[in-house]
Amino acid sequence: MPEASTPKDETALVVELRRTLGRLDSALGQISEGLVLVNAIGQVLWTNASFDKFVGKSRLEILGVDLHGILPLNIVGEPILTIEQTRGGLLKTVFVTVILSDDPVHALEIEWRPVVTEVPNPLMFSFRDVSARISFDELQQKSQQIEDKWLSTSKKYIDLQSKQLALAAMVMKCPVTGLPNRRGLRARIAIALQQLRRRPGLVTLLFCDLNRFKEVNDSYGHQVGDELLIELGKRLQSTLRPEDVLARLGGDEFVVLSPGVLTPMAAVQLAERLQAVVSKPWISQDYSITPSMSVGIASTDDSEVTVDELLRRADLAMYAAKGSDERSITIYDNVIDAQVRRGVLIKRQLQSAIDGDLLKVDFQPIVDLKSQDSIGFEALVRIRDFEGAWMAPIEFISVAESVGLIDQMADLVLRRCLAVLKLTENTAPDLVISINISPMQVCREGLAGRMIAIAERYEVDLGRLAVEVTESVLIDRPRTVINELNTLRSVGCRIYLDDFGTGYSSMSRLFQLPIDAIKIDRSFTAGLLNCPRRRVVVESMIRLSLDLGLDVIAEGVELEAQAEALLAMGCLKGQGFLFGHPAPFPQPAEILVP
Ligand SMILES: [Mg+2]
Repeated sequence: MPEASTPKDETALVVELRRTLGRLDSALGQISEGLVLVNAIGQVLWTNASFDKFVGKSRLEILGVDLHGILPLNIVGEPILTIEQTRGGLLKTVFVTVILSDDPVHALEIEWRPVVTEVPNPLMFSFRDVSARISFDELQQKSQQIEDKWLSTSKKYIDLQSKQLALAAMVMKCPVTGLPNRRGLRARIAIALQQLRRRPGLVTLLFCDLNRFKEVNDSYGHQVGDELLIELGKRLQSTLRPEDVLARLGGDEFVVLSPGVLTPMAAVQLAERLQAVVSKPWISQDYSITPSMSVGIASTDDSEVTVDELLRRADLAMYAAKGSDERSITIYDNVIDAQVRRGVLIKRQLQSAIDGDLLKVDFQPIVDLKSQDSIGFEALVRIRDFEGAWMAPIEFISVAESVGLIDQMADLVLRRCLAVLKLTENTAPDLVISINISPMQVCREGLAGRMIAIAERYEVDLGRLAVEVTESVLIDRPRTVINELNTLRSVGCRIYLDDFGTGYSSMSRLFQLPIDAIKIDRSFTAGLLNCPRRRVVVESMIRLSLDLGLDVIAEGVELEAQAEALLAMGCLKGQGFLFGHPAPFPQPAEILVP
């Protein structure tokens, strides 16, 4: 037994011991594994340098804190270790493999075991980087492991392993294109957002939606549709950088996650490149298809934004882009958010008005300017918004067009008008009722056929019905428009050119349309008395129309003096508050219901 040491010896021993601990600490710091010693309630007692580096904190920040709180999250944004899991290590050695990210692959194997020096036992954790050893299938399998489904079947781990491997591909990938699917994309967005915490920047989503893809499936079948999706996936991928992620959400929706786009302008340029590659014709032996797509962009520099919120913003921007032909790339902002939300509410309002036959149709008189007797009425559909206020037609018509309710709405209005015509058949046989048709309706084949079929059931003279179209119908597919209008005219229906003078068509092109009358826009009538130039324009419009054998109806007549001036110029018909506001048809309302 050694003799009691002197204080001097003890000091030397402590110094030597400190040196040894320092060497040990330094040696343990050199190994690549991250090591942590925690007490029984999870507080950190000691770490090595690799672990400090792994969590990106200094040892002083780590010592004494809860280990679970300083670890990064896994691929789906959940803790990589839970307190419940680590309790298992109090008795034996435990392993888990966790995936932090899959692009690039970052996987860890975590092992922990009790240190039997005291009771309750501290735990020693080691964190090993196994990224190089893990396959993509394992990656998918492991991330799937975190799903509830996986947890609920974990007792049958071995039996299910092979099944899960096969399922894994479906879980994270689109089976058609092989690209990440919504689940795979969500995981990647989560990682990109997390990285913002460490490295400030922008995470940008480009939500791409193919236009009229349904027509491809309907015309050529789903196999061709799928082949087109594969082709477009390849084209889009070829435009992207390695750090970008392309995913297919299903249907005709692709999303690009781009972590390195720095400005809105750069995002728009990327969107333009994507649109350019997509819109090249796809030609095979049997067909040639020229696809196009709308793109909505949403960016954030805020790591606290949720994956769902960022996706929602990009989706809204895409929805807004789809609503306008000219702007098929739209960047998300608060205005778009408000517009789209309002659009969704309007859609609900419209749908319930149509389903419940609650659309209100008012009639505004069109009069003979000399006698001021009513010779016709324009039917105007009115809908209240969710707060009870009347909505401007331009607002709900565009929503009805974009959500596919326009035909149902127009058919209901037509039925009301036909009922009015039927009712006045004997009392006012010369009365003409006009209805407004949106450019979108008249650009598609079949409008005239459908209207005629509906009218046949009412057995009314279609010479008493007029259709009002605006000159913007000429922008898209003029041949179809002219055919449809000619078909309507062939059964006696009249065609009025509405809001005349507000569009941009040249006069010559305008009169290619088969029309019976022009309606001079209210802005011209309003300026008639005070603006000599307007007066000259109106005068020439009237003269030209009369020379071409067309009827002229002036809209927005509010003053006797306007009516007199119009009459003096040769315009014989007018409409406006001077003669009557839009109101229920001047007959007992209950008789008007079809
Ligand atoms: Mg009109």
